[in-house]
Amino acid sequence: MKIRRVETWREGIPLLRPYQIATAHHAEVDLVFVRLETDTGLVGIGSGSPAEHVTGETIEACETALDGEGLAWLDGRDARDLGALRREARSRLRPTPAARAAVDMALYDLFARILDRPLVDVLGRCHDALPTSITVGIQSADDARAEVLEYLGRGFRCLKVKIGLDFEADLERLSVVRETAGPSVAIRVDANQGYDLQEARALAAVLDDLDIEFAEQPLQADALEQSRSLPASLRHRIAMDESVQVVAQAFDLVREPKPGGIFNIKLMKCGGITPALDIARLAELGRIDVMWGCMDESCISIAAALHTAYACPATRYLDLDGSLDLARDPGRGGFLVREGNLVLDTGPGLGVELLR
Ligand SMILES: [Mg+2]
Repeated sequence: MKIRRVETWREGIPLLRPYQIATAHHAEVDLVFVRLETDTGLVGIGSGSPAEHVTGETIEACETALDGEGLAWLDGRDARDLGALRREARSRLRPTPAARAAVDMALYDLFARILDRPLVDVLGRCHDALPTSITVGIQSADDARAEVLEYLGRGFRCLKVKIGLDFEADLERLSVVRETAGPSVAIRVDANQGYDLQEARALAAVLDDLDIEFAEQPLQADALEQSRSLPASLRHRIAMDESVQVVAQAFDLVREPKPGGIFNIKLMKCGGITPALDIARLAELGRIDVMWGCMDESCISIAAALHTAYACPATRYLDLDGSLDLARDPGRGGFLVREGNLVLDTGPGLGVELLR
């Protein structure tokens, strides 16, 4: 069961709906892909979406880490030696988490295909279907209303509203979103580090008044002491995203007083399934809820996140809408969106087919 062929490539893919968040405008995404094939003809695939604004990893660094001799060490290795291979990937690709995530998930995909089982069952399934939020970007209240109506029409029942540029405008837009969505739709917000301490404090009333589940990353990623100074009842409803990228940070953040009650785990921040499982386990031990987030990504890496999410007891929230907006995707399948819930395919591995 030797790996005999290693292919990597990069693709620029336009987004169907360019969007604005507190830190950036997004219209296109550059992704990397990894394809591993064994001498028995089994194939494992992975994809990476570097998040330079969060991790500092550029697409060029990501591509270079995988190109040429970058993955030559995999040639001839036994794909069943998952533990050793994923550890070696971690040490060889340490500075480039999205490149590492692509390789790590391709190794898991291949391993689960050898066992002819869905990856989630190899890892130990504990969830079957949870709703995903879909993101409403920073825009006028009227545009937000139209976008919300479209998402409700497509069956989504959970919205993530981007905030963080202007508190008053955020409040107005959020009120319109709640009024449009009605009382039964779940709403969460993400400020992407855009608020100061006073605005973060003011979020407590906003969450209560508009029945908002939680607020993601109101303060700067390193403003942990400020976050710890917030009332416990509010901290419990703060999700940490930019503040928790790697396992060592998670280790620090599970200790009291916790700056937030939720971790947003993304494979592209932490470097793949292996470290994501570590962070989710720390969250479980530290009584922190886990949400699973993403960048703009192929369904390959979204499926990898979903298999991982459904194998972690601490998983409570999904924000895995990152492939729904790609104009095209080299992967197909992995999961279905059924009335706003994500349901995994029953095929082996990640359950994703590569269209090339
Ligand atoms: Mg976020």
